[in-house]
Amino acid sequence: MPSVKAYGAAASTAPIAPLTIERRSIRPADVQVEILYCGVCHSDIHTARNEWGGSTVYPVVPGHEIIGKVKAVGSAVSRFKVGDTVGVGVMVDSCRTCENCTHHQEHHCVEGMTGTYNALERDGSGWRTYGGYSKEIVTDEKYVLQVKEKDNLMGVAPLLCAGITTYSPLRYAKVGPGMKVAVVGLGGLGHMAVKFAVAFGANVTVISTSPSKVQEAHSLGAHDFILAKNAGALQPFASSFDIVLDAISADHDYTPYLNLLRLDGKLLVVGLPEHQPKVLPFALIKNRRSIIGSMIGSIAETQEMLDFCFEKKIYAEVEKIDMAYINEAYERMIKGDIKYRFVIDLSTL
Ligand code: NAP
Ligand code: ZN
Ligand code: ZN
Repeated sequence: MPSVKAYGAAASTAPIAPLTIERRSIRPADVQVEILYCGVCHSDIHTARNEWGGSTVYPVVPGHEIIGKVKAVGSAVSRFKVGDTVGVGVMVDSCRTCENCTHHQEHHCVEGMTGTYNALERDGSGWRTYGGYSKEIVTDEKYVLQVKEKDNLMGVAPLLCAGITTYSPLRYAKVGPGMKVAVVGLGGLGHMAVKFAVAFGANVTVISTSPSKVQEAHSLGAHDFILAKNAGALQPFASSFDIVLDAISADHDYTPYLNLLRLDGKLLVVGLPEHQPKVLPFALIKNRRSIIGSMIGSIAETQEMLDFCFEKKIYAEVEKIDMAYINEAYERMIKGDIKYRFVIDLSTL
């Protein structure tokens, strides 16, 4: 069992600090990956600080936007060889037999997918999963992604969560030319949503609380920008969008965003604040609006998204950080002070 250097939270109130974890020994279907870069998702903060209530066993080692090089492969591995560049995203296992797993929807496994961190391995061994704030990870090849890009690996890492989480609902909603899309919350997820909606041919508006993001929103490809410090700022835009994608990390109500939707408009919810948002039924019934939730995407769709990004040269906008900067990075993310994803350089650990 390899001991691996990592960073994690010892308790929900503790900072992220150095520690050592045990990874499982490599099994026949496993790949052992040396981690080069790991993106910092707001879910890392929610989990480390137990904001969703599910972080019951510590330490929590976050990180699920992992890019690395294959260091070793098990005897039964067929898709990867030593030296390959690979990605590991938000899940590392599922039951593989339920109706969703057998229909390539393993992220919706009926038994619940196994998260890359803060989960129990499915073999009953009691091993816990630890994420990418670490030097290495050992993962079944079925849940590992192929990365054909060689040059901008830092910009690829956030695609493993922020990328697939926004690509999947926009594809599901068939976003394309002639559609008006609003993206609310221009953070890690939001900026990828803008890039994808633009690439799919939609007219895209950013709705943000940050005046400093106006210029960048346009350079990301957005056509319009609405500064919305309060719900009143949105009233002039009532019933004017086909799609609103909500990527806000903090507590908020859905009603002002539902009101933006025209006939048959859809609110695509990916943001996961700590407390439940309020929904007014009157805002929902007008214009036959619907709310659609979306959780990451399947392994097959994640590979499809990565290949789409490599073909179109779509990458995340990143700020590279040393591992030891992680607590300051969290505080800056909570203030919205990041354009648009921190990526940890694991050579600094
Ligand atoms: P992030 O980079 O921190 O961005 C969140 C953005 O939300 C901020 O940049 C800010 O945008 C906006 N925001 C923050 N506080 C706000 C407030 N009080 N009122 C209105 N807007 C506010 O976070 P992220 O990594 O993109 O994650 C966003 C959310 O998605 C998190 O809750 C995360 O857990 C969740 N998530 C869900 C999935 C899924 O599968 N559904 C996957 C990954 C993450 P502006 O500055 O533009 O206002
Ligand atoms: Zn994430
Ligand atoms: Zn399953």
